[in-house]
Amino acid sequence: MTEQHSPLSRVDVLVVDDTPENIRLLSSMLTREGFYVRKALNGQMALTAVDTLLPDLILLDIMMPDMDGYMVCQRLKANPKTQEVPVIFLSALGDALDKVKAFQSGGADYITKPFQIEEVLARINHHLALKAATQEIRQLNAYLEQRVQERTQQLELAHAQLLKMALSDPLTGLLNRAALVERLELSLHRAAMDASYQFGVLLLDCDRFKIINDSLGHESGDQLLIEISQRLQQLLQPSDVLARLGGDEFVILLTDANQVKDINEFSNLVLEIFSEPFFLQTQQVFINVSIGVVICDSKYDKPEHILRDADTAMYHAKASGKAQSCLFERTMHDSALRFLQLENDLRRAIQEQEFVLHYQPIICLKTSQIVSVEALVRWKHPMRGVISPSEFIPLAEETGLIQPIGLLVLRQACQQLKQWQTQNLVSPDLSISVNLSAHQFIQLDLTKHVYTILAETQLAPHCLKLEITESAIMRNPHLAANILHHFRQQDIQLSMDDFGTGYSSLSYLHSFPMDNLKIDRSFVQSLHEMPSTQGLVPIIVAIAKTMKMKVTAEGIETAEQLAQLRSLNCDFGQGFLFARPLEPEQIIELIAQNPQW
Ligand code: C2E
Ligand code: MG
Ligand code: MG
Repeated sequence: MTEQHSPLSRVDVLVVDDTPENIRLLSSMLTREGFYVRKALNGQMALTAVDTLLPDLILLDIMMPDMDGYMVCQRLKANPKTQEVPVIFLSALGDALDKVKAFQSGGADYITKPFQIEEVLARINHHLALKAATQEIRQLNAYLEQRVQERTQQLELAHAQLLKMALSDPLTGLLNRAALVERLELSLHRAAMDASYQFGVLLLDCDRFKIINDSLGHESGDQLLIEISQRLQQLLQPSDVLARLGGDEFVILLTDANQVKDINEFSNLVLEIFSEPFFLQTQQVFINVSIGVVICDSKYDKPEHILRDADTAMYHAKASGKAQSCLFERTMHDSALRFLQLENDLRRAIQEQEFVLHYQPIICLKTSQIVSVEALVRWKHPMRGVISPSEFIPLAEETGLIQPIGLLVLRQACQQLKQWQTQNLVSPDLSISVNLSAHQFIQLDLTKHVYTILAETQLAPHCLKLEITESAIMRNPHLAANILHHFRQQDIQLSMDDFGTGYSSLSYLHSFPMDNLKIDRSFVQSLHEMPSTQGLVPIIVAIAKTMKMKVTAEGIETAEQLAQLRSLNCDFGQGFLFARPLEPEQIIELIAQNPQW
C-alpha cells in the first residue's frame, strides 16, 4: 500500500461484476488493504454510482448481461466528467483479441481471472500513481501556462509603457514631437490617397513665457504648461491631436476636413481660452499665444515641412504684435529665404567692411551748441543701396553678428572723433554717442573690448558716451549695474536710450550710474496731443533731475516741440529739426557753421 491510500483519504475503488461472489472476494481483499470499496452488479448501476461520486479507479468485468464492460467503459470515456477515471478490465476471457478491444474502448489495463491479489494490487497502485502523475503534470502545465500568461501580460504592459514614454511628453502627458510626426505622416498618407483631403495644423507658442519662468520659477512655469494643455484639450474633438513640441510650444492637428473650413474660427477659440487668467498656487497670471496655421494637402510630403511652415507663420504672428494667429502663405516662405539671404550678406558685409557711420548732432537747448554727435550705422549694400539699422540690427542680434558689427561701429566712431580732434575740426568737449545693443551688453568681455578700442584709437574716455536702451538694462539689472559701474570708473559717459519704453522701475534706476536719460521719440511726438499736461515728458524730466541726470529729448521735429522742451528745462535735443543723420563731411560742415536754433 502506498502512502496516498491513508485511511483518512481512502482511495475509492468501484468494483463492477455481475457475479456477487467475485465482488465479495475483491471487496474484502481490497478493504483489507485499506481501500474504500463500492460495488455495482451491472453496467447501469456502475454508471449511476460513478455519476453520484467519482471513484479513483474502476475494476470492470467484461461479460455482463444488458450492458457489457466495453460499453460501460466507452460511455465513461465519452463523458468528459468521467473520462479520466482509470478502468482496469477483469475477465476470464484470455485471448488477445479481447484485450485489444478492451484497450480500444478506453481501458487502462487488463487482468485475467482467476487473478492473484498481488497482481491486482500492483496494477491498481500503478494506475493510481500514473493518474496522480498525470494530474500533477496537468497542474504543472496549468501553472506554467498561467505564469506564461502573467509574464506576457507584464511584458505587454512594459512595452506599452515604453511606447508611451517614447511618444509622450512626461510633463503634460500629451503626445511629443515624435508621436506628432507619426500622426502627421498618417494624415499626409491620407492626403496622398485622396487629392481633395485637407487637414489643419496650428502651432502655438506662448508669448513672454520666459518672464514667467524667470520671475516665478520653473515649477510655476511647469504648472502653467500643464494648465494650458488642459485648457487646450477642452477644445478638441476626438479626432483632433494635441502635442507638445517642447518648451512652450504646442501643436494641434485637425484631421477632420470639415474643421479646416472653420480653421479661423477655431484659432479664435484657442486665443479666447487665454483671455482668462491662470491660477498658479498663489499667483494669478495672464499669458497669450501666437499661432501659426497651415492648411495641408497632398502638396506636402514631409511632416517637417509642415512644422517649418507653421513656425514661419507663427513668427509672423509674433512680429505682427503677438496674441494672434496667422495663416501660412507661400510668400512667407520666400521672406524667410530672404532673411537667410540677408544673413549671408551680413556675414560678407562684415568682411568687406560695408558699414558706414552717419552722425546726428545733439544740441544743448540753452546755448544751441552742438555738444555731441550720435553715430548711427548704415549698411551700404552693393546691390540694394543703403539699408537702415532697424532693418538689419534685429537680424544681426538674432544671429550673434551684432558682436563684430558693434565693435566695428565703436572702433570707427572713436577713430573718427580722434581724427577730427587731431585736425582741430571740433571742440575738445564734443563727445561721440555710440549705441550698444542689448546683446552686446551681455557679452562677457564687453568692457575689455571697449577699453582696448579706446587705447588703440587714443580717444579720451570722457569723449565717449555709450547709449544703452532701457530694455537692455532691464534684462539683467544686476549684471547691467555692474558693467555700468566699470565704465563709469573709466570716465566713460553713459546714456539711457529710448527711456520710457522699457518699463524700468524707479527703484532700479537709482542703482544705475547714468549721466543722461534720452526721452523716447514717441513721448516728444505726443507733446502737442496734450498741450496742457504735455504728457509724460515733464515727469521724465523731473525724474532725471531728481536723480542728478541730464535729459536729452529725441525726435524733435518742430519748432513748437523745441519751445515746449526748452520751457520744461530739458537739457539737450536731437531730431530732424536740427539735422538728420549726416555723412562725416556734412556734419563737420554743419559744426563749422555754428547754427542757432
Ligand atoms: P536710436 O539710438 O534711438 O537712434 C535714433 C533714431 O531716431 C535714428 O534712427 C535717427 O535717425 C532717428 N531720428 C532722429 N531724429 C529723428 C526725428 O526727428 N524724427 C524721426 N522720425 N526719427 C529721428 P536710425 O538711424 O534709423 O536708427 C534706428 C535705431 O537703430 C537706433 O535708435 C538704434 O537703436 C539702432 N542703431 C543705430 N545704429 C546702431 C549701432 O551702431 N549699434 C546698435 N546696436 N544700434 C544702432
Ligand atoms: Mg541711440
Ligand atoms: Mg533712441
